[in-house]
Amino acid sequence: MTTIGILGGGQLGRMLAMAAARLGIDAHIYCPDENSPAARVAARATVAGYDDREALTAFADSVDAITTEFENVPAETARFLATRRPVHPSADALEIAQDRVLEKTFLNETGIGTAPWRSVDSIDDLTASLDEIGPRGVLKTRRLGYDGKGQARLNGPDDIAAAFADMADAPAILEGLAAFEREISVIAARAEDGTVRCYDPGENRHSDGILRETVVPADIDGATYDEALAIAERIVGALEYVGVIGVEMFAMQDGTLLVNEIAPRVHNTGHWTIEGCAISQFEQHVRAVCGLPLGDPARHSDAVMENLIGNDIDALPTLLAEAGAAVHLYGKGDARPGRKMGHVTRLVVE
Ligand code: AMP
Repeated sequence: MTTIGILGGGQLGRMLAMAAARLGIDAHIYCPDENSPAARVAARATVAGYDDREALTAFADSVDAITTEFENVPAETARFLATRRPVHPSADALEIAQDRVLEKTFLNETGIGTAPWRSVDSIDDLTASLDEIGPRGVLKTRRLGYDGKGQARLNGPDDIAAAFADMADAPAILEGLAAFEREISVIAARAEDGTVRCYDPGENRHSDGILRETVVPADIDGATYDEALAIAERIVGALEYVGVIGVEMFAMQDGTLLVNEIAPRVHNTGHWTIEGCAISQFEQHVRAVCGLPLGDPARHSDAVMENLIGNDIDALPTLLAEAGAAVHLYGKGDARPGRKMGHVTRLVVE
């Protein structure tokens, strides 16, 4: 195994390419954007669209296995590439994770709890759905939402018109507002032979729908810990998944766990594994995709991972001077509000 192909050029691809390099594996990044964060640390890059069959063919022929760093790569692209090389996660897994209605249907059919939800295609659907599962809810676009984008909160029927307008006619899903105690996530990896390895759940703090901080370990009891890992195992098993997946969950007051979202890729809430474990989520994913044995996901230290968003990056001189702060920068030029520019991980040393 010498080259892994990665669809997508963002920070996740960048950290995957760096983890691959540690294993002596080259990365070939495929991304429509020039000069992407991932391309700048990779052996090779192709700048082309996800529908460019000629470029996709040449890309496939130049690598040994293919993965994605971003879940909105068209499933058709993954399906086309899979005719030439192994592609993980599969087009089927991408398709499920790309559409919140397919995702929630899959989860519920797999016996996994979610917030109550209804598919919404019209304002009448929304009115009826809020009546059934309200009074409070979150309306989200079915597709292409991330970091809280494409979402509108409803505190009651008065919010229906504005929330529906926010969707700009895109097919949507209404979810009941989950009164969670905390948000946690499990980063799980599954190998082709069915072996599953899970990292310890982290506890996640968001603001404006964007992840600010992950604290590991999550403050959950043993039964919740076991259940969180069991849910992640059930998901990767049902999908016959290969690679790393992020499973975001709401931990409710009564001890139940509801799955909010599955992300078929390495995940922001798993960045702490670079410093907190011998084998990071990035290396684990490369191992799974390249057919290498999975590594030990044991956490050797407690950790806090803080995202550097927009002008948080102005604190860089202070962060660089801070003992024990592991600073990661993604090489993005413009610190626009809401843009993830980097992160910093601090191990908790007693
Ligand atoms: P998402 O894009 O679905 O991951 O949502 C981003 C964030 O919005 C989540 O991490 C939660 O903090 C919040 N959120 C999303 N859906 C719900 C829900 N049904 N109930 C309560 N909070 C939610």
